[in-house]
Amino acid sequence: MSGVSVIICAAGRGERAGFSQNKILVPHLGITPLERCLAAFCLPEIKEILVAINEIDKPAVEEITRKYAHARVIIGGATRTQTVYNALLATGEEIVLVHDAARPFITGEMIKNCIQSVQTYGSGIAAIPAVDTLVTADENGKTDGYPNRDKTYYIQTPQGFLTGELKAAYQTAFAAGDTLFTDDSSLYSKYVRPAQLCQGSPENKKLTFPSDFYAPARVGFGVDTHAFGKEQDFILLGGVKIPSKSGLKAHSDGDVLVHALMDALLSAAGLLDIGHYFPDTDPAYAGANSMELLKKVVELVASQGFKAQNASVAVQAETPRLAPYIDEIRHSLSAALGLPPSAVGVTAGTNEKLGYVGEGKGVTVYASVLLANK
Ligand code: MG
Repeated sequence: MSGVSVIICAAGRGERAGFSQNKILVPHLGITPLERCLAAFCLPEIKEILVAINEIDKPAVEEITRKYAHARVIIGGATRTQTVYNALLATGEEIVLVHDAARPFITGEMIKNCIQSVQTYGSGIAAIPAVDTLVTADENGKTDGYPNRDKTYYIQTPQGFLTGELKAAYQTAFAAGDTLFTDDSSLYSKYVRPAQLCQGSPENKKLTFPSDFYAPARVGFGVDTHAFGKEQDFILLGGVKIPSKSGLKAHSDGDVLVHALMDALLSAAGLLDIGHYFPDTDPAYAGANSMELLKKVVELVASQGFKAQNASVAVQAETPRLAPYIDEIRHSLSAALGLPPSAVGVTAGTNEKLGYVGEGKGVTVYASVLLANK
């Protein structure tokens, strides 16, 4: 048939990514790499998609492939070469594209380029020019060859071939016991003819290491105000007791700084505000120790996969004088957030006698945080 078959290689364990499961099943930017690939290959010319997997991943993968009418699962082998061979034997279209599930950022345009190259040259191997100098070395690390950088490329997938030619090449390779190839273009080039490169893209990145899965940093902002008037000779800021002619009125211990910081953390993680998690109508939080609540918020944020990278807090208070306590507050917050004190900034100022802060009626605190993946 004159359509295109796609083989998606997903049978690896993805061990270098350091997850407890196959990396192509770990959501990245909101979707698993496998599903992002499947969505990209939903093009009219593509008649079937074979997802080559490990037996162990079968239930999870089938749950994903079920949504794609032309996709089906096939069990791979012990090596990549064996896996592709198994899948290849099950393909029925004239052209076959082999793609690694760990490259989820493949675009429709790249896929079309690859198919066009197969139609014109008999093969199409996505590749980009090397930007680093490449070297070969022996097992002791001694260099033994410097290929001319102008002639070197990083090979990607998809790699497209005429199905009949690739099947024949695999048969010959297996008959010769030659079964350890890291990609299909090398096997094809050895047993058929030099493969034709086509345009890959730097965005078509392979997810390999834990850092490849990091999401962009998330910023968060929080603000809180409490009024003076509690019969008490101190206020709490960041868990630090600061002498004051009156305390801050609150259902909890009135640590206005920690409240602003907690909201910043929750907001950055896309969670709801502290009123949702620790309602002031709940007697359980009467006089609550805000530093203890902060610990819970740090855990909540961690449960979403995030950790604070730094925090910046600005206190507006006409009174009491805060300068002597700033360092202690920074240390207290840094311990709670698991950060070095240098990653926690606390500034304080008056409001020049203006408004409720200026009249000494209350304290307002603004807090911002930056979260990144744990
Ligand atoms: Mg509050």
